[in-house]
Amino acid sequence: MKEKTKLVTAGRHPERFAGLVNTPVCRGSTILHGSMAEWEDKKRRRAADEAGASTYGRFGNPTHHALEEAIAELEGGYRSLVYPSGLAAGTTALTSLLAAGDHVLLTDSAYSPTRTFLTRVLGRFGVETTIYDPAAGAGIEASMRPNTRVVYVESPGSETFEVQDVPAIAAAAHRHGAKVVMDNTWGTPLFFKPFEHGVDVSIQAATKYIVGHSDALLGIVTCTEETWPLVKRTTQDLGQTAGPDDIYLALRGLRTMNVRLHQHWRAGVEVAAWLQTRPEVEAVLHPALPGHPGHALWKRDFRGACGLFAMVLKPAAPAAVEAFVDSLRLFGIGVSWGGYESLVVPFNPAGDRVTAKWPYRGQALRLHVGLEDPADLIADLERGFAALAERREKGRRAA
Ligand SMILES: *Cc1c(COP(=O)(O)O)cnc(C)c1O
Repeated sequence: MKEKTKLVTAGRHPERFAGLVNTPVCRGSTILHGSMAEWEDKKRRRAADEAGASTYGRFGNPTHHALEEAIAELEGGYRSLVYPSGLAAGTTALTSLLAAGDHVLLTDSAYSPTRTFLTRVLGRFGVETTIYDPAAGAGIEASMRPNTRVVYVESPGSETFEVQDVPAIAAAAHRHGAKVVMDNTWGTPLFFKPFEHGVDVSIQAATKYIVGHSDALLGIVTCTEETWPLVKRTTQDLGQTAGPDDIYLALRGLRTMNVRLHQHWRAGVEVAAWLQTRPEVEAVLHPALPGHPGHALWKRDFRGACGLFAMVLKPAAPAAVEAFVDSLRLFGIGVSWGGYESLVVPFNPAGDRVTAKWPYRGQALRLHVGLEDPADLIADLERGFAALAERREKGRRAA
């Protein structure tokens, strides 16, 4: 079945819900059983890991299972589990695979709360983390230790957009008995197929394109058959679960994700290419642009691009940068991404980087290109550049 069709059919069972097209929002903690025999049978089926066999709301109900089934199918993994946020998905996956005395290799480009969790929380429990260069590729081998259990990749990095050679990293990790955990939020289940590239556990911040409308937080972990029992057990041991209303929003968002993503992709490339022509811009970091250092890897491994990328302004006075950002009307100032609206947020990786020095001198801005007409977005950025020039001129006259 083709991908677009799967997006419509995955996880849907109208025959179980009076013919309703969508799996309803099922609310509930207690699940009743008709007899002691039925109760014992359900417990046995749950222990045997039968899909959908739940004895209590915390272990999921049909709303949870619909999303889990759909994402496992789309990402190409064995089974999935939902979490209350993307971060909770990542921290639970890591906790599942690690124990005291273990070593983790984490890409320098990782979502920074993931790094904080590893160092500040798992560090207290005797897990050691080493940061590696996202460009390492097969060279990751040199950083492997006998106790390295997890190599964590995020490709491209969601602030700095380095594309990683995931298959080469996975081959090296597997030679040393380590598992590869990937944050696949940028690629989405449509544009990067983690399990075709050697990943063992994939994380989605469903908050982004799966929910797609900036109205819910949600995370998903998808596993191979081998990693599934550990992740499932730890998820239950930690009491991780997510609310059915948010899951319903994710299921609803999922059905239109393909058309939204193709529009984000096209418009994102159009805006990024235009920014590249501007004299005020030092660099545009977008893997789908031919000049990007990760472009060849992106072309080899990805099936598309989402609407998230970054640009670096040429060095300018802070007041001029502020004038640029503040004059934008369609790009709202804020974090998160993957909704229908455009966003901008300043960031400064210079102080966080440990492997390679951040090579740019100006202010970095992350942009999310939403579903507005790209012509309007370009006009908005033009207004920004006019405000920047005006403020710079004022500064010059004052000096
Ligand atoms: C947003 C994000 C997360 C965390 O998702 P939340 O739902 O906000 O917790 C994880 N990874 C990446 C790459 C993200 O952009």
